Parts: sequence; C-alpha cells; structure tokens
Amino acid sequence: MEILKIVIIGAGIAGLATALALQNRETEVLVFDKNGGLETRGAALTLWSNGTYALKKLHVLEEVLEHSTILSMGNIYSSRGEQLESLPIHYSTPTVGIPRYVLLRILADRLWEGTIVWNKKVRGLTETEVKFEDGTSVEADMVIAADGIHSIARSQLTNDSLRYSGYTSWRGISSIKLSSEYEGTMTQFWGDGIRFGFLPLKGGMTYWFMTANAKEQVSERDEVLRCVGLLPNPAGTILEGQDHSQIIHLDIYDRRPIPKWSYGNVLLLGDSAHPMTPSLGLGACMALEDAVCFSDCYSSSKSINQIYGEYEALRVPRANAIVQLSKRIGMVGQIQQPLLVRLRDLIYPMVPRKWKQRVWDELYGFMNN
Ligand SMILES: Cc1cc2nc3c(=O)[nH]c(=O)nc-3n(C[C@H](O)[C@H](O)[C@H](O)COP(=O)(O)OP(=O)(O)OC[C@H]3O[C@@H](n4cnc5c(N)ncnc54)[C@H](O)[C@@H]3O)c2cc1C
Repeated sequence: MEILKIVIIGAGIAGLATALALQNRETEVLVFDKNGGLETRGAALTLWSNGTYALKKLHVLEEVLEHSTILSMGNIYSSRGEQLESLPIHYSTPTVGIPRYVLLRILADRLWEGTIVWNKKVRGLTETEVKFEDGTSVEADMVIAADGIHSIARSQLTNDSLRYSGYTSWRGISSIKLSSEYEGTMTQFWGDGIRFGFLPLKGGMTYWFMTANAKEQVSERDEVLRCVGLLPNPAGTILEGQDHSQIIHLDIYDRRPIPKWSYGNVLLLGDSAHPMTPSLGLGACMALEDAVCFSDCYSSSKSINQIYGEYEALRVPRANAIVQLSKRIGMVGQIQQPLLVRLRDLIYPMVPRKWKQRVWDELYGFMNN
C-alpha cells in the first residue's frame, strides 16, 4: 500500500484550488477523481470579487482574466421589465464571467506533474485509508474530501441528507452575442416561479441559466423552451443560439449547515462541506476562499487538530450563513403566486441601498474592499 501525506478527493474547483494552494507552499499532495479527465465543455460561472481575490492569492488571476469578461453591474428585472435591483460592482479584484471548464483547466495546468489521478472513484474511507471502487487503496495522514454536494465522505461521516429546493435549473453557453447594452453586465429576470439570468462571455458567447419551480426529479430538459416563453427578450433569443444537447439540467439541492467539517484526519471542503443553492452565485467562490484559507492554516509543524480547528473557526460561520441566505434569496426569487410576485416586485426595490450594500460587501467584497 502506498503511503501518502495529503490526499484530496475530487478534482473540482475546491480540490484543484486546494492542491494548488498547498503546492504553492511546496507541500506535496495527490488528487483522486472518479472522472476520466477534465471537462472540456459545459456551463460558465460568475466569479465574484471574493473568488477572484482568492485566485489572485493562488497566482492565477492574470491567466483567468485573459479568458474572462469583466462584469461591473448586476441588474434584476421583473418579468414586466421593472428594475428590481441595480448593483454596481467595485472591489479591488474584478467580478468576471468564465466557462467553468476553462477555470478547471487553468488550475489543473498549474499543478505539479502527476498530481491528479483520474478514474479513481472513492467508495469509502477509514481513519487512515481511502478505498477506491477498483479495489485499490491509499494511506494518508490527511484526507481533504472535496467531492462535491453528493460527497461520499460526508454521507459516510454525517448521515445527513440533501434538501430539495423546490426548483430545477437549466444552463448553457449560447452562441448568441449580446447587444452592447448588456456589455459588462449580469442580468436576471424574475418571473412567477421562474428566474432567467445571463452574462456575456469572451468570444461573443453568452452564458445563461434558468430556474423554475418543479417537483423533484420530474422536469425535463426541453421544458426550458416552454418556460423561456414566459419571459421577455433577450431570453428567447439567447436560447435560439443554444445547442440543446449541451443544456445542463439539474434539480437544485443544498444541505442543512453543519457546525463541524472535520472528522479525525478527514476534512470536508467546498461543496462537500457547505453545498448551497446557486441563488447568490457563490458556491465556487466559496470553494476558492476555502482553498486559500486552508493553505494559510496549514503547516507541517502543526497537529491536524490544530489546522482543522483554526480552519473551521475561520470558515464555518461565514459559509453556513451564506448557505442559509442563499436558500432564502432563492425562496424570494421563486415566488410563484401572482399576488405575492407583485408584492415582491414592489417591495424589493424599496429595501434601503445602504443595507443592501453592507450585505453585498460582506458577500462579494470579502477581504477585498
Ligand atoms: C445551476 C448552478 C449555477 C452555479 N453558478 C455558480 C456561479 O455562478 N458562481 C459560483 O461561484 N458558483 C456557482 N455554482 C456553484 C458551483 O458550481 C459549486 O459550488 C462548485 O462547483 C463546487 O466545487 P467543488 O469542487 O466543491 O465540487 P464539484 O464541482 O462538485 O467537484 C467535485 C469533484 O469530486 C469528484 N468526485 C465526486 N465523488 C467522487 C468520488 N466518490 N471519488 C472520486 N471523485 C469524486 C467529482 O468528479 C468532481 O470532480 C453553481 C451551481 C449550480 C448548480
């Protein structure tokens, strides 16, 4: 059996960023992933200033910016076209839109050769051993479980379950180039039980996503076409430029926040620790924050308990509060009853800007004002 010091399960944003953060400190680490290699297509992400600040600390921000569009304004409209929100974004590192697979490639390319081991699906863990489905195993002093919302480590260690949000989602990258009025802007439409958001990407492409209230596991990929008809343009036009076979359709879940992410030598990190609904667009940004914070806490001269304790003290309160806030914003965004929708659309713009600014600064300008 191979003896390793630090093993990371999952080569997603959390796993790759944590591996990079540790290797930037000359710390050896191996990453195991169930997939056969990196994604080469898919959807995109908004990386808010807190996420790009973490990328700066990982020394990859410049390369990320080469493949990103800079976003300086966030707008939300009702389905009748009234402006509900207008958020100027102005922190020390920019907010950007980037295809997710591009971000993954940038992170993976910076790792030492041989760091990622593909086709290694973890089937279970013990205190000192990670066991794979192919019958092999590795020993580790420290295991970082960055294996996402369906984390095998979390299921084994906590027995908690997923919470269905009450809505489903579709997203993709359309070949439609947005008109100049949408340059540098993230836009959302909030309708009756549906939301549609979009932003420009590099190369004249458009990232879009849509959510709609639905029973768990019953909606279908093509329903996005019916739902988009309920919203003003350019929603419909954007979908015209979408290759339907590439639409990603997912029911949205999170998990009830837990106060503890470490179990012996195993630490949950990224979505495995704090899976959240996408309503604030912060899951990947939080994974990047986790990575930087973890490497700041890490030192080979400290005990595992000390490292995990310091890390949890810094990360658990912020991440768990964001999980709950994201759930609540999702509930407001997905209101369906027409009278309540009207009420929401009247009240939302009246929330004092000063109060909202404070919340945005805490969420998106974290460490970055
Ligand atoms: C609709 C939608 C829109 C979103 N938009 C945004 C956004 O705009 N901005 C933002 O910041 N966030 C966004 N997010 C959230 C973001 O996608 C996640 O928070 C982020 O991907 C979490 O990264 P992760 O590495 O923790 O988990 P994942 O990305 O899920 O990666 C987990 C990795 O672990 C591997 N793995 C899983 N199980 C095993 C196993 N048993 N053995 C080995 N490997 C395993 C997987 O193959 C995968 O590579 C969005 C999410 C959704 C659903």
